[in-house]
Amino acid sequence: MRKTSIQRLSIAILLSCVSCNNAGFAAVDPAEEGVRYCKAKNFSQALSCFNAASKEHPTSWQILQNIGNCQMHLGQYKSAVNSEQKSIELGGLNSTQCTIMAAALEGLGQPKQALNWLNLACSVDPAQAANPVMQAAINRLHDPAINPTGSPNASDYVSGLVSANTWRRQDMPIKVCVRSNYQLPGFYRQFSAIVKDSLDQWCKAANGAISYKFVDSRDSANLVFDYTDRSDLCTSEHEAGLEGGTEMMTREDNTAAKGTVVVLVKTSPEETHFRDRVLITKVCLHEVGHALGIHGHSSNNHDVMFLAATPEPIAVLSERDKATIKRIYRQ
Ligand SMILES: [Zn+2]
Repeated sequence: MRKTSIQRLSIAILLSCVSCNNAGFAAVDPAEEGVRYCKAKNFSQALSCFNAASKEHPTSWQILQNIGNCQMHLGQYKSAVNSEQKSIELGGLNSTQCTIMAAALEGLGQPKQALNWLNLACSVDPAQAANPVMQAAINRLHDPAINPTGSPNASDYVSGLVSANTWRRQDMPIKVCVRSNYQLPGFYRQFSAIVKDSLDQWCKAANGAISYKFVDSRDSANLVFDYTDRSDLCTSEHEAGLEGGTEMMTREDNTAAKGTVVVLVKTSPEETHFRDRVLITKVCLHEVGHALGIHGHSSNNHDVMFLAATPEPIAVLSERDKATIKRIYRQ
């Protein structure tokens, strides 16, 4: 069997090694506190500190660079691009700014521009070109799964997919198990309801070609759902996603054999609130689309299967999503 993993927003892992290491402020400066929060991956607190520091040092390119890094990690991609642009204007270009810019652009669903910035990072700092993490990020940005070719206006996006790994008729109903996270047991019921909603939407769109049933044990399941508060666990084959990931095992004939989906329900273990239910559902719908056989992405940011997270709080399939699942199960 072959293994495919499909993730969103993977450059972020690169930044854990390069970010926030050049603050250089006096101990009283909130920027130093920001760096500490950054290292602890508490990016919302870090951002508050850096914003305060920026008021005191409005022309510091380092603070702006760190603000952009926090915004990128918090999914505020457009703001991150603006902050890095300002940082570059004030302090000249360095490879960290380029890498943050690339991650933000990937988050906005612009893999080609992201790739340009990573290449720029390597030319600014040739040591980066030899960094295996950088090489992996560059290779990944060439992946056809995140470079959809189909027209954003066609009635579906089947032509832009890498492949369709549908489940066989004899595997219906698909046996689905939602695992309880023992560190977040209170969220199990809500997450199960989100999984059910997502599966129901896709099943309805497929016009009866897909069915599923919940089972209690993971051993009898062929599709397993996990939820987590650790974005580093939304990860497979050593690449990090930020909001969710799907790993599929396929047979020689490309049909789906087994799958695992993981969805981020809280941005970090320290965070007190769970993510907005609509946003969790949107990510879950996207990952379920992969788990039901859509290997690749849409190039239209109104589709659930768009290659990156989009800010609109809408968690329903688009007409193109529905047409795509219908078509791949008819084939
Ligand atoms: Zn995806």
